[in-house]
Amino acid sequence: MLESRTGFLQKWNKEVFGDIRNRKNRLKRRLDGIQNSLHKKYNPFLEELGKNLAKELKEVLNQEEALWFQKSRSMWIRDGDRNTRSKYKFDPDSNTDIPHNLMIRGYLKLNSLCSNENAVVNKCKLMEFVDDLGQWRNLENLNDIPEERDIWKANATPSNKTLLWRLGHGKRPTRNRLVSWSNISPLCPLCGKFKETNIHLIRDCQKAVTIWNSFINPRDRACFYILPVKEWISWNLQRKVKFNNNQWNIIFAIGCSLIWKWRNKLCFENDFELPEEPHRIILHHAKTLAEAWSEELTTPKLMPVEDAHEWRKPKQGWIKINAGRAVCIQNKMASCGALLRDHTGKWICGYMTNLGLSNVFIAELWGIYPGLKLAWDKGFKKVIVESDSSLVVNQILGKNTSKSSVHPITQSIKSLLLYSWEVEIKYSPRSSNMCADGIAKKGLSWLGGLVYYNDPPNFLLRQLRLDSWDSTCRSDPGG
Ligand SMILES: [Zn+2]
Repeated sequence: MLESRTGFLQKWNKEVFGDIRNRKNRLKRRLDGIQNSLHKKYNPFLEELGKNLAKELKEVLNQEEALWFQKSRSMWIRDGDRNTRSKYKFDPDSNTDIPHNLMIRGYLKLNSLCSNENAVVNKCKLMEFVDDLGQWRNLENLNDIPEERDIWKANATPSNKTLLWRLGHGKRPTRNRLVSWSNISPLCPLCGKFKETNIHLIRDCQKAVTIWNSFINPRDRACFYILPVKEWISWNLQRKVKFNNNQWNIIFAIGCSLIWKWRNKLCFENDFELPEEPHRIILHHAKTLAEAWSEELTTPKLMPVEDAHEWRKPKQGWIKINAGRAVCIQNKMASCGALLRDHTGKWICGYMTNLGLSNVFIAELWGIYPGLKLAWDKGFKKVIVESDSSLVVNQILGKNTSKSSVHPITQSIKSLLLYSWEVEIKYSPRSSNMCADGIAKKGLSWLGGLVYYNDPPNFLLRQLRLDSWDSTCRSDPGG
């Protein structure tokens, strides 16, 4: 009977699974194609088609999952305990490539899972995992990896690194921790079924699993869901794979921080609902971050004359606008601000505002525009604008060829430049643009509209003093 079952399984594997796999891959390829062309140009027909294909894909994935479950159960019945014992027994003398402690941890973890259908699927995953020695070889030295170093070296923002470190050390205030000094329920606020431990929250909760599954292909899932938390973080930070052209380690760090953020919002904000397509948001953040970093690396350094690190007063008769922007990596909120100073370094006026969702580039442009407008309205005829984004400076000066589309705000700035006055747009390094930086950052925590400062605000006094002190003996040769 077992024999016939095996034959049946093989046939089933080839025909049913093969068919599903082909359909799945075909659908994915078509969806990718559609997404690529939508990215270039919007087309309602394609969008509609994409939606239908996505629906179809979802059905295929469901079918695959159901089949997979049947398959795993059949294998389970077929191999039964025989398989489990021989494969998962801890035997120090056995000659195997598999690091035992890891295997044991994996096994213990599986046993700790509830004995429902998922556990069967999970056990089956572990079997596939153990069979795939290639995987294990990659992980051979896993226990020697100094996880801490991986975290601090990771491609992530400082706050993300701290989050990962705290997760690795079980130091997030999850409910399972809080329960020891308060009478809060230890159950996970997302699923309400399991104790909310660090690893449950960030990876094992059903909500998190749905998110991670959008990224992790079924082949790697066994590894992804079995590793203990520290190894898990290391493994992910070291993976060299890319998803949609984005490095996995960046996506991973952002995924963790967003899951943590959403969990908090669910706990503390009554009307918060999880986003519909969380993986897209994670991907979007990862993309923006990677772009920002590559911009920093590839932007040619436009060095201003001589000393690059201090603010310089403009020459007599000129005023200087220093514009800056700030973008919160976690929530993508952007703000901008700028200040106008005369040739003695004296404050003329300043402003800042929160821009809502935006990016570095546009925020910088918005930092410049109101400043120019103000300067014109106040009747200044000789103006220097300093920005620490060479990309923005190049775009205003028309030198930028890399951005195919020119943002409308650039047009507004350009038309201001056509008035009868002298305006110089210059790049200055961030270190000489600290006041603008400070005023822009203030905007991040500001919830109202544009704020004007007729007098220097308190939070800038120190930096203003530094600037004017530094520039006492120097003035800008360009002005
Ligand atoms: Zn949960």
